[in-house]
Amino acid sequence: MAAPKVAVVGAGVIGLSTALCITETCPSCSVTVLSDQFSPNTTSDVAAGMLIPHTYPGTPIRMQKQWFKETFTFLFAISNSAEASEAGIHLVSGWQVFKNAPKEELPFWSDVVLGFRPMSEAELQKFPQYRFGQAFTTLKCDCPPYLLWLEKRLKATGVQMYTRKVADLWELHSEYNIVVNCAGIGAHRLVGDKKLFPIRGQVLKVHAPWVKNFIRDGDGLTYIYPGIHRVTLGGTREKESWSLAPDPGTTKDIFDRCCSLEPSLWGAQDIKVKVGLRPSRQSVRLQREVLNQGGLKLLVVHNYGHGAGGFSVHRGTAKEAAHLVGECIASLQGSSSRAKL
Ligand code: FAD
Repeated sequence: MAAPKVAVVGAGVIGLSTALCITETCPSCSVTVLSDQFSPNTTSDVAAGMLIPHTYPGTPIRMQKQWFKETFTFLFAISNSAEASEAGIHLVSGWQVFKNAPKEELPFWSDVVLGFRPMSEAELQKFPQYRFGQAFTTLKCDCPPYLLWLEKRLKATGVQMYTRKVADLWELHSEYNIVVNCAGIGAHRLVGDKKLFPIRGQVLKVHAPWVKNFIRDGDGLTYIYPGIHRVTLGGTREKESWSLAPDPGTTKDIFDRCCSLEPSLWGAQDIKVKVGLRPSRQSVRLQREVLNQGGLKLLVVHNYGHGAGGFSVHRGTAKEAAHLVGECIASLQGSSSRAKL
């Protein structure tokens, strides 16, 4: 059969990294990215981009760890290359602090990040309201540069990218053999997934270049994540809220919480407020599906629902989605050779 035509719907971190993995595993495929928004206007642009996994209750931990490990290994190699600053990837060390010792002293990802250890008494003195803490080094993506870097790599391999809102996956049937759904929260409407819901997050991006270490309250709500140019201060988790409008009261609350963790932030300047909707589900939907309509078939691979942890696992889930695309191609080749008999 001719080179299979694959459409990837979505240009956030999941769509772009999935398109890249497809070009790597199937160089003969013709890959097109279709999206109504590109960077800097996606949820992925709002994220802090820290590699600290969020747990998906409906997915085996073994699988989540594999996704995280693959993502960490991929980004660690970039952080050690001359492309690190263009791609916005860097190592960052810091502390996760707890008011009470956590149930799980060793999270499943503790041997993937670097140098994971309990904090010393001397380190804990910096946080008088906290009794326990973990120190480690992880990776951080500065999200807009990383998305642009992915786009650049895709263009260099011949991937086409078009601005287009897809109202129904069937509208792609006549042009493409396989459709990969990486629409993030957009999948709620695109494929009517009622298990997918938004968790609204508001963050501040501030100028505070003296902050070099990350600090995260173990409850996950308050965090300070230094990037290459700006520091991300968070945050909020508002289930089922679809509002993208920044809330001034929330901005003040986030700033106060972060200053109580790191008082030098009172001197932060140029505060910008961003809001994003985490595409949340009990488990990431990483699945092949064959849609049927009036005797026609449409091969679909879903890769969405990464919630609060899309950056932490994106490469791992993209590789798995590319593998599923490979299975679709094998089934297409099987049916085209049967048709010739
Ligand atoms: P998106 O980035 O939303 O991309 C979806 C794409 O699909 C967009 O391009 C959109 O335009 C397109 N699309 C949707 N519907 C259609 C349609 N019908 N037709 C055409 N195109 C369509 N994760 C971490 O790992 N670490 C963090 O530190 C972190 N911090 C975060 C902080 C905040 C405040 C928020 C909100 C999220 C954070 N996340 C973090 C989570 C992370 O941002 C998400 O998991 C990730 O961005 C999801 O990526 P995505 O590509 O699935 O979605």
